[in-house]
Amino acid sequence: MANSKYEYVKDFEQTDVLLPSTWIVVRIDGKGFHKFSDHYQFTKPNDRRALDLMNAAAVEVMKELPDLCIAYGVSDEFSFVFHPNCQLFERRSAKLVTTIVSAFTGYYIYKWSEYFPSMPLQPPYLPSFDGRAVIYPSNGLLRDYMSWRQVDCHINNLYNTTFWMMVLKGGMSNTDAEQELKGTVSGDKNEILFKRFGINYNNEEEIYKKGSVLYRQFELQEPELVQEGEVDNTTVPEGKQSRTQQERLRKLRRKAQVVVDHVDIIKNDFWDRRPWILS
Ligand code: ATP
Ligand code: ATP
Ligand code: MG
Ligand code: MG
Ligand code: MG
Ligand code: MG
Ligand code: MG
Repeated sequence: MANSKYEYVKDFEQTDVLLPSTWIVVRIDGKGFHKFSDHYQFTKPNDRRALDLMNAAAVEVMKELPDLCIAYGVSDEFSFVFHPNCQLFERRSAKLVTTIVSAFTGYYIYKWSEYFPSMPLQPPYLPSFDGRAVIYPSNGLLRDYMSWRQVDCHINNLYNTTFWMMVLKGGMSNTDAEQELKGTVSGDKNEILFKRFGINYNNEEEIYKKGSVLYRQFELQEPELVQEGEVDNTTVPEGKQSRTQQERLRKLRRKAQVVVDHVDIIKNDFWDRRPWILS
């Protein structure tokens, strides 16, 4: 391309390359979904269709970007995790965030009518998402990040479940319910649910209590992997892979099925049983 006298303006761009060999978490969050969910009459406290739509959009994002290892979603937010050896867009933060945000939004809108057939999207109530990238320099820190989101899911869901029971079944006003719940601990809320409404919180649906974890299910592909002799590539330590190995790994990730699970990701069990996620 020919140089022009205007080219110097390119130098005003600031670099936003993320630290190498670290986990990159891109968290997106729906803009004004409190209002959005009111407008489209989401069921309170948890609209299953809305969560399934979030998950469906996230699955497509995972399929499009094989550098993503795992994703976690709750309410109107999703965290997407890029592997430490991810080199997509030279690890430029804005490129990664905007690609995820727009791909996710595109699929959310594309799939909307499948989940809300009787509620067409109407301006100005269109879904949009913000996003940010944060790096975590160790597996332990990434695990703590994931735990933070899942604990948040639990705390909010217990509160919301109790609040909406008091309002919808208990006939209380929003302000009265809010007032009574002020300063209560988990035990108090469990007791309100059980004593007043006969609800054992433990029996609530897992998707509401635990949120949604998306990851690639390698076991389902095992016979094929063994045959191709590629299975070991999934356990090569980070940073030690050659270019061809990395390319193979990307191919494997692309082929693997993305599953949606609603399980505990705070304890070790989930990670111990799926060693490929963090390797
Ligand atoms: P902001 O733009 O600052 O993110 P917000 O209105 O989106 O504002 P959040 O803190 O992100 O606020 O909360 C999202 C809100 O969207 C929830 O509090 C809830 O009211 C609603 N919401 C999201 N998902 C669901 C769902 N599946 N079922 C019912 N309500 C939902
Ligand atoms: P990257 O993902 O790195 O941005 P890219 O393929 O999108 O790669 P760009 O440098 O952004 O490359 O260039 C966009 C390209 O899209 C143009 O070079 C052109 O080929 C095509 N394109 C965009 N808009 C139009 C249009 N209105 N008509 C025809 N071609 C278009
Ligand atoms: Mg927000
Ligand atoms: Mg929001
Ligand atoms: Mg939110
Ligand atoms: Mg382009
Ligand atoms: Mg362009």
